[in-house]
Amino acid sequence: MKKKVIVVGAGISGLTAGIYAQLSGFDAVIFESHTIPGGASTSWKRKGYTFEGGMHWLTGSSVKTPLNKLWREVGALDDSVSIYNRDPFFSYEYKGQTAYVYRDIDKLKNHFLSISPEDKTEIIRLCKDIKKFTKISMPVMDIKGVKVEEKARMPLSSIISMLPALRRMSFYKGQRADEYTDRFKSPVLKNLIKNIIGDESNATGIVFTIATLASGDGGYPEGGSLAMAARMAKRFEALGGKIEYGKAVSKVAVKDNKAYGVIVNGEIIPSDSVIVTQDTLVAIDKLFDNPIEEPWANRMRERIKPMLSTFISLGVEADLSDMPEMLTFSVDEPLLCAGIANYNIGFYNYADYKGYAPEGCTSITSAIMGDTYDFWKSCKENGTYKEEKQKLAETFISILSKKYPQIAGKVVVWDVATPLTYERYLHSYKGSWMSIMDDSSSMQAYPSKPESIQNVYFAGQRLVNPGGLPVALDTGRRAVQYLCRDTDMVFMGNKEI
Ligand SMILES: Cc1cc2nc3c(=O)[nH]c(=O)nc-3n(C[C@H](O)[C@H](O)[C@H](O)COP(=O)(O)OP(=O)(O)OC[C@H]3O[C@@H](n4cnc5c(N)ncnc54)[C@H](O)[C@@H]3O)c2cc1C
Repeated sequence: MKKKVIVVGAGISGLTAGIYAQLSGFDAVIFESHTIPGGASTSWKRKGYTFEGGMHWLTGSSVKTPLNKLWREVGALDDSVSIYNRDPFFSYEYKGQTAYVYRDIDKLKNHFLSISPEDKTEIIRLCKDIKKFTKISMPVMDIKGVKVEEKARMPLSSIISMLPALRRMSFYKGQRADEYTDRFKSPVLKNLIKNIIGDESNATGIVFTIATLASGDGGYPEGGSLAMAARMAKRFEALGGKIEYGKAVSKVAVKDNKAYGVIVNGEIIPSDSVIVTQDTLVAIDKLFDNPIEEPWANRMRERIKPMLSTFISLGVEADLSDMPEMLTFSVDEPLLCAGIANYNIGFYNYADYKGYAPEGCTSITSAIMGDTYDFWKSCKENGTYKEEKQKLAETFISILSKKYPQIAGKVVVWDVATPLTYERYLHSYKGSWMSIMDDSSSMQAYPSKPESIQNVYFAGQRLVNPGGLPVALDTGRRAVQYLCRDTDMVFMGNKEI
């Protein structure tokens, strides 16, 4: 009889784990508290408008990357899914001047030089480094000691080609994005570059991000987040896996330091092992009768800086294809979100995306970054939650309408998702969906299994910062490799698709 594995969560990590478990000969059941798959990789509809609530770019979308093979293996991508590579990828407007991040490094360099010749030294250095960093891609590896049907390989030539970038890494990793961009004299370049990843993030994210784009990666798969999750769920079910929707796991059942199932609605559902993809930071405290007190878990509790947002979506009864597709612009009168003044307003305009809005209309979204959890929580408690959401939406609409008069009076639907919304759906720490990779320089990575409890594995965005879709994928796959190693099964994957 096949060994049964229960997966907690049908986000990208849980679906990945379920697929590899099925492929490797386990009987996998996913318990998902929501009624749809995808977790943070999602979108929603309001009055005929679709709001993309998840990814803006996918690392591994290019067939040239090792990760692409995994995305294909789990059914997220296939030949029928077209990939849209937005170019310019990012733009920033400051006092009437706009700067762009182009994917072509020479074009980027010339554009930057035309904006700010006095920043020549820094521009040339950055562009040289971006070129070096294009040789780095997230590796696909097998864990030590696992039996695999086909080994994941990394050619020596790829490792050698990464060396020049690795040597430059120490320069970036010792500083935050805003510290690094202080080297630039031009305010528009300074802001453009730091806004790609956010002030607080580690500067390595800047070169990594632009290099990913420059190497032809980081595209947006047709249909977006929810369609991608649906393809993965379909693949899982086609392999014989089962998803139990609307069923939240309240605890992992543990006896004598061994997990033997999960508890759902007070009922014990037995299994041979459990893969937890709920935010690890929450799971270690809430999903076990006794919180996990291992050194790595304590480190996670101390060090994680959650990345969270308040997400505003608008349905506009106007064709906005004359507006930029993605722009962050500076404002003199800040947008107040949870008492925090935002002098940079960014938006995504989906006018050119078929099916995201009724004919001749447009969906717009904006993620206001920042830890506003406590504010929204207190609004919920004092009864002003709805009112504050409306105030925020109205201010945002007014700022945008002032800048783009074609929007004024045309907004027919708005939606605000706060960190409380994300918390409700994802059961993640403060509703966060990634972690900030800050100035503490080294990448934080956490184990896939605890030492104190057997038959339990962890996966998901929180295990390697900054997280995101590639980490969800990689850790889901890795959890199954540990499961295979522990149960003497052969991990099936790594196939050419
Ligand atoms: C606005 C936004 C933009 C983003 N942009 C990008 C981007 O451009 N590129 C990128 O790579 N990443 C991006 N991300 C991040 C990315 O979407 C997430 O990091 C990733 O989807 C996390 O996947 P996961 O499976 O680890 O976790 P989750 O998506 O959180 O999945 C966990 C799942 O488990 C379920 N669950 C939790 N607890 C329980 C329980 N006890 N019982 C049952 N079910 C449970 C939840 O309902 C959820 O479905 C973005 C996220 C957001 C919100």
